[in-house]
Amino acid sequence: MHEFTLLQRVFARNAELPASVIVPPGDDMAMMMLSPSHALLAACDSAIEGVHAPMGCDARVLGRKAVLRNLSDVAAMMNARPIATLACVTLPRDCDDARAWQLFEGLRETAAAWGAPLIGGDVSKMSASTTHAPIIASVTILAVRIDETRAVVTRCSARAGDNIYVTGTIGGAWDAVTGLGRHLNFTPRIKVAQTLHALLGDALGAAIDVSDGLGRDLGHIATQSRVRLEIDLARVPICAGSTAREAIAHGEDYELAFTARGEVPSEVDGVAITLVGRVVEGEPAVIALVAGESFDIAQCGYEHRTTLRGSA
Ligand SMILES: [Mg+2]
Repeated sequence: MHEFTLLQRVFARNAELPASVIVPPGDDMAMMMLSPSHALLAACDSAIEGVHAPMGCDARVLGRKAVLRNLSDVAAMMNARPIATLACVTLPRDCDDARAWQLFEGLRETAAAWGAPLIGGDVSKMSASTTHAPIIASVTILAVRIDETRAVVTRCSARAGDNIYVTGTIGGAWDAVTGLGRHLNFTPRIKVAQTLHALLGDALGAAIDVSDGLGRDLGHIATQSRVRLEIDLARVPICAGSTAREAIAHGEDYELAFTARGEVPSEVDGVAITLVGRVVEGEPAVIALVAGESFDIAQCGYEHRTTLRGSA
């Protein structure tokens, strides 16, 4: 089953959730109200050896990435700061103590560095009959709103008339041959997001972090906001050495894509903010405009399949 199909079945039950769930499944983080003024945000994401990092990698790197991926989701909510982390780790039967400890250190030190200490979790080992098993590190992150009087920025609030921006550069985050690249050690855009939220407030529309490919991730904003996104491909800040095709399809960039109206700074905390397109009325789509031609890039990106463990 495709990830998309599976998730659509999950989202179909969102209406049954209690009214305290303000942001249900389908966004970068879920949010529920604990009291009339206090909200808790939560998200979980995994880092799997052989999928999100090369088999045999330094386990510390895998643990670090598992936490960083979750922090990137905190950034995508823009009005949020991480407060705690939990990790559920599955180890191969033959994993030695040194490697298990490296993994723990990667999780612990990264979580601590971002103000979200590792406060709990679980460790299990695979059965002896499982050969060539990967390490699986599943991380849950908890966050709170910075400004409790304001909403978080979701994927469903882009408005016709907004401009579309991306932070940093897109593409070239991982090497298809070695599996290495900056996807293994990146700076989640939490500080940039917080600054933008403080500056722009309600001028912000929708936001997402670019994990599955710029085309596919903008597609989530288009679908959930029921708008059409038009991207000037020539404006997309493509990483040196990468192509436009890679930039929109490969993913693992962990930059932010967001919509806003009004004045938006061209740089925040040393990170470039680039205008790449506009939101217009129309059927949900992400249309790339290049050299007078247009094509839909909403399907350009990485999709996990529940029957396939591929390389992202
Ligand atoms: Mg995300």
